[in-house]
Amino acid sequence: MKISILIFGSDKFIARLSDQICDANSFNLEVITNLNQAISCIQSTPPDILILQASCDGSLELCCWLKQQTKLSWIYCILLEDRSQLLLDRSKYGREWELEMTSIALQEGADAYIWQSPEEINSNSTELCSSQNLLLAQLTVGLRKAQKYRDLIRTNDLLSAIALADSLTELSNRRALEWDLPRQIQKARTNGTPLSLIILDVDYFKRVNDTYGHLVGDRLLQLLSNRVRQNLRYQDTPFRYGGEEFVIILSHTSCDEAVVVARRLNRIVGEQPFAINNQLSINVTISLGAACLRTEDDVNGMSLLNRADQCLLQAKAAGRNCVISCENYLSGHTSHLRVVSS
Ligand code: GH3
Ligand code: MG
Ligand code: MG
Repeated sequence: MKISILIFGSDKFIARLSDQICDANSFNLEVITNLNQAISCIQSTPPDILILQASCDGSLELCCWLKQQTKLSWIYCILLEDRSQLLLDRSKYGREWELEMTSIALQEGADAYIWQSPEEINSNSTELCSSQNLLLAQLTVGLRKAQKYRDLIRTNDLLSAIALADSLTELSNRRALEWDLPRQIQKARTNGTPLSLIILDVDYFKRVNDTYGHLVGDRLLQLLSNRVRQNLRYQDTPFRYGGEEFVIILSHTSCDEAVVVARRLNRIVGEQPFAINNQLSINVTISLGAACLRTEDDVNGMSLLNRADQCLLQAKAAGRNCVISCENYLSGHTSHLRVVSS
């Protein structure tokens, strides 16, 4: 991926700079002369490096604004000083004054502050002079920083994927559920759409382990997860909740629709054995509890999960291999549970 540079400055400044940068490196260059445009461009497609012409209206504001954007702190900001009064003062007041001005610029948010000489500002020559050499050196620093940042993002993505995936079934894990459920609830409430949840548990799974060993049990869990995943709709997200229990979040789904999904899962698991290998196929069934989001449910989905879990317990108590919906379930009133298939 190419490093992207956004240049903010006058047309003349940009034309001269673009030539010099393009000669020496291959970057994706974007040029902008207007402050608001620059801000929205940075927000929508953040560049790796930002080069600002100090004499251009709004450049120092942009520098300060960028410093306040903690989420954009990785953008390398180079301020090119070309304000004629400052350039004159620089030759008048000497090195200490220059250092003081440089530290002010760095405090304002620039990562690098480069003085241009009056000759090079007015020159049409494409020869590289000292400040241009310094600019190219700073671009190399910015480029290194951008590459490090991208490596970090890649590593973070990988670590997040590992942290949120279940290694046996490759489904999302319980941590992913705890992250996703509150977001799905908030989205459903904001959009006024229904949301449902299913918990399912393999019936008598311990017997599989006890009879055939844990490796066969593991393989069965993998095959079962695949079968469940392949029979879900695009808006259903499956998670391995733990052991042989799975949770499915069903967005845009009413209670009645959730029951239809749960019944289908109950059927597709129970109707065909799982082929562990050429010699061994195992039949298992699952029990399922389904619940839908209510206005009084907490934002993290704990009460919703608990309601679905109560239904699952009832499905087990009712003999297993069935779906129970707690559409009308009120705590302590188990008679309101609905057995919808067996
Ligand atoms: P029920 O119908 O009441 O759910 O009976 P069950 O036997 O399925 O339930 P129980 O809770 O008694 O046993 C669940 C078993 O699942 C026990 C545990 O060893 C097994 N188990 C949990 N996680 C894994 C796993 O990752 N691999 C294997 N092979 N077994 C697992
Ligand atoms: Mg079980
Ligand atoms: Mg269990």
